[in-house]
Amino acid sequence: MSLNTILILGAPGSGKGTQAKFIADQYGYKHLSSGDILRKTASEDTEIGRSIASIIAAGELVPDELINKMFLNSFKNLEGEKIICDGYPRKLSQAEFLADNSFVFDAVIYLNVSLEEVTDRISGRLTAKLSGETYHVKHRPPKVDGVCDVSGEKLIIREDDKPETVKKRYSVYLKETQPLLEFYGKKSVVIEIDSEQSMDIVWKEIEKEVFKKK
Ligand code: AMP
Repeated sequence: MSLNTILILGAPGSGKGTQAKFIADQYGYKHLSSGDILRKTASEDTEIGRSIASIIAAGELVPDELINKMFLNSFKNLEGEKIICDGYPRKLSQAEFLADNSFVFDAVIYLNVSLEEVTDRISGRLTAKLSGETYHVKHRPPKVDGVCDVSGEKLIIREDDKPETVKKRYSVYLKETQPLLEFYGKKSVVIEIDSEQSMDIVWKEIEKEVFKKK
């Protein structure tokens, strides 16, 4: 079966963004990251930008009205292309909205990881705003301290990667996003990957389990 539409699900810090980027680069998928799209809007000096920025900084989810139609439109514009969705849908009401509009995922990759591991990963995470690359002070340091290997830009700590917000985001994930596993589980499209392992091993598992690479 050909996999045209893939959703990657997991707690903050599970490696969704990194693995989605690998899938996009190696298998020709278009990477749609709701977090990246919302952070871009949040950086604009507009009323909606400021409102989204404060929601993200608090670790809450932005309202469905702001995101549902936007994503459905992107999906319609990309019809026929292979897409990997990272971060949307993120709660039951969003998944139901897509289903009601006849949008289906061919596969859902679930990156399973513990709170301890997530806390360790996020507490050392460094992000490059322009290139979208992420690093970790211990597990994936950049070649030059504080500088992105790809773009040369200065690395930052995301506002919502601060410890208090990470806890909040994890609890929002458990309450709002975990129920999607049951929703998509019923449609038998969920592929679970143990994401407690290193980035390279997780990628190998995804290639084996999802893309059936020998
Ligand atoms: P992420 O980079 O995926 O962790 O997303 C960063 C933040 O963007 C989240 O903590 C939410 O505030 C917001 N966000 C991303 N995707 C969604 C979504 N599907 N629904 C609501 N808020 C979202």
